[in-house]
Amino acid sequence: MDFSLSAEQKQIRDMVAEFADEEIKPRADEIDETDEFPQDLVDEMADLGLMGMPFPEEYGGAGLDYHSYAIGLEEISRGSGGLGTVVAAHTSLAGNMLYEFGDEDQKQEYLTPLNRGEDVGAFALSEAGAGSDVPAMDTTAERDGDEYVVNGGKLWISNGSVADTVTLFAKTDPEAGSKGISSFVVRPEEDDGFHVEGTEDKLGDKGCPTAELRFDDMRIPEDRLLGEEGRGFVHALKTLNGGRITIAARSIGLARAALEDALEYSQDREQFDQPISEFQTIQHKLADMDTKVQAAKMLMHRAADRKMRGEDYIKQAAQAKLYASEVSREVANEGIQIHGGYGYTKDFPAERYYRDAKLNEIYEGTSEVLRNTIANELLE
Ligand SMILES: Cc1cc2nc3c(=O)[nH]c(=O)nc-3n(C[C@H](O)[C@H](O)[C@H](O)COP(=O)(O)OP(=O)(O)OC[C@H]3O[C@@H](n4cnc5c(N)ncnc54)[C@H](O)[C@@H]3O)c2cc1C
Repeated sequence: MDFSLSAEQKQIRDMVAEFADEEIKPRADEIDETDEFPQDLVDEMADLGLMGMPFPEEYGGAGLDYHSYAIGLEEISRGSGGLGTVVAAHTSLAGNMLYEFGDEDQKQEYLTPLNRGEDVGAFALSEAGAGSDVPAMDTTAERDGDEYVVNGGKLWISNGSVADTVTLFAKTDPEAGSKGISSFVVRPEEDDGFHVEGTEDKLGDKGCPTAELRFDDMRIPEDRLLGEEGRGFVHALKTLNGGRITIAARSIGLARAALEDALEYSQDREQFDQPISEFQTIQHKLADMDTKVQAAKMLMHRAADRKMRGEDYIKQAAQAKLYASEVSREVANEGIQIHGGYGYTKDFPAERYYRDAKLNEIYEGTSEVLRNTIANELLE
């Protein structure tokens, strides 16, 4: 068992960490305030190969292993939680759907521009009445000659209002429950009937637009079907498994940001004629924060390791995401506490980390649903 990073993994970490410190962090407050999609940073990340990290170079990707991808996403999220979601939804969800379930033509046509960062991707699964309960979805795709006619709507779609390529789930056989769901590629600019209804005003995760989408008799050619009809639910579950490793990475990045700031502040801030870092209570908080971050990292890399070996990793990914997401909220909470009253204001990013961290416990499987998943795996 080797816990050390390879030379290449260290190089990726250092490169993305430098980019996060020099380019993302100085912009993070502005992104939080304006809630605008930071296209210029996405373009810069594309130049660095960060918009297609885990995919082969033949499809425009960076060809990194999953550990490196997770480390890269951790560093991006340490800079900005919103940007972390932009990259995670684009890569782990939209990109992975195409890589795993697309045919060669679909990979060349849709995955390659995503990996090069020329296009932005989104993953449209959730609906108003179908969040955790995916098979309850109402969106339909009815076959009509060599086309599908899509009707319905999606909610909470990260990157949904800026995406060039959307991987969409719809029922091709509404009577067949989860076996009647199929997955498709949708191109908002080309497909008449695709509408962005609006974006959510959220607690955090600013800069990543969370959109409501509507489809009115949207006609898409049959060659946009991913894999076979009826396999969409399986595609979604498999994709979300890999995605959970990267939400663990986003969680760890945010927790590390909160810890780094708390360490610095505790040594600067003096009360009772000494830095507050001299108080054992504060030291113990810092010790607990770091211990939790390190444990979360191990769970993340354990899941990534199993994924790369081609072994089943449902339980490991669920555990990594469950634990890391709760750690991110706890560590961000303690970060505010160490900043005292200042932590509750916008003078410091401590409160932003907390708002951004909360989301980790909700998307790509809520903590409750992940506990169900883990228990099911244990009891099987
Ligand atoms: C900012 C943001 C970005 C998102 N991005 C995307 C995206 O890009 N693509 C996409 O498709 N979706 C996205 N989502 C949707 C997200 O995945 C769902 O919000 C999530 O799956 C929960 O669904 P829900 O909101 O309908 O809550 P519900 O499923 O209604 O859950 C409500 C509560 O009930 C609990 N609950 C539900 N079922 C069970 C159960 N069986 N056992 C125990 N407890 C249960 C939940 O844990 C939760 O506490 C995003 C959401 C947000 C907030």
